[in-house]
Amino acid sequence: MSEFNQPLGGNSMPRFAGPATMMRLPTQENAARLDAAFIGIPMDIGTSNRPGTRLGPRQIRDESRMLRPYNMATRAAPFESLQVADIGDVPINTFNLLKSVDIITAFYDDVLQHNCIPLTLGGEHTVTLPILRAMAKKHGPVGLIHIDAHADVNEHMFGERIAHGTPFRRAQEEGLLAQGKVVQIGLRGTGYAPEDFDWCREQGFRVVTAEECWYRSLAPLMQQVREQMGDIPVYISFDIDGLDPSVAPGTGTVEMGGLTSTQGLEIVRGAAGLNIVGGDLVEVSPPYDPSGNTALMGATLLYEMLCVLPGVKRGD
Ligand code: MN
Ligand code: MN
Repeated sequence: MSEFNQPLGGNSMPRFAGPATMMRLPTQENAARLDAAFIGIPMDIGTSNRPGTRLGPRQIRDESRMLRPYNMATRAAPFESLQVADIGDVPINTFNLLKSVDIITAFYDDVLQHNCIPLTLGGEHTVTLPILRAMAKKHGPVGLIHIDAHADVNEHMFGERIAHGTPFRRAQEEGLLAQGKVVQIGLRGTGYAPEDFDWCREQGFRVVTAEECWYRSLAPLMQQVREQMGDIPVYISFDIDGLDPSVAPGTGTVEMGGLTSTQGLEIVRGAAGLNIVGGDLVEVSPPYDPSGNTALMGATLLYEMLCVLPGVKRGD
């Protein structure tokens, strides 16, 4: 028996059976004694277009059923050196976005107090602001690798300062992000003005549009990102709509011409060696995901984040 929690194997219980925890891992009520935890935030009340991400965590867990412990590409073996569990969902107030934001920060304060690295199953992108608030309290301003079709730096949405299109504007204003250590990958689509992404550049963010990624491996980009970040604490926020809708249709605000599934894997795998302190995978909306592939993509990317955490044995 390993001293570390293991995903329930497919020869012990059929993969379509049993409780749908992330990777069929054991659950526990809090982050005590864990090196890393999967956490769901079943929230969609900050969404501007198609809803449904409140159902994201459950669907990501369900579609994670086929994920096996070892990473065949990188030889990462996360369950040989980390204690990992699924600690369930944050009990948001589905009638009140601002209260939910504070509930999320308090939940992550507790997780971080246990020196546990949170990997979050969203939920829409509003969730990243309260997580970053907790992160900055623990670590100071963090570097950010943000994959998304959208910059999410709106001043407001419909007059509201907190919504799924504003988290990185607020994070920058609140000093939660390390200066010169933010990279946004996959931005594209239509804007309210041609200058929409220039606010990010003025802040010193590195903006890598989807067009700059087309037809290319992103391994060289990630080498530059590793050099840019150095050894500071880095957070990964992966909006599934950064990927092309041909591979991730189940989301609320779809934009054409996105990243491929392999580019998504290259980004997360390219974060290996960084001081990753947390990550999220947001904006999976199961009602628009009839095949389940969007949730499976999300589950896979969360597993890849686990595989690049500090202390994980890798063969690459
Ligand atoms: Mn987003
Ligand atoms: Mn987006």
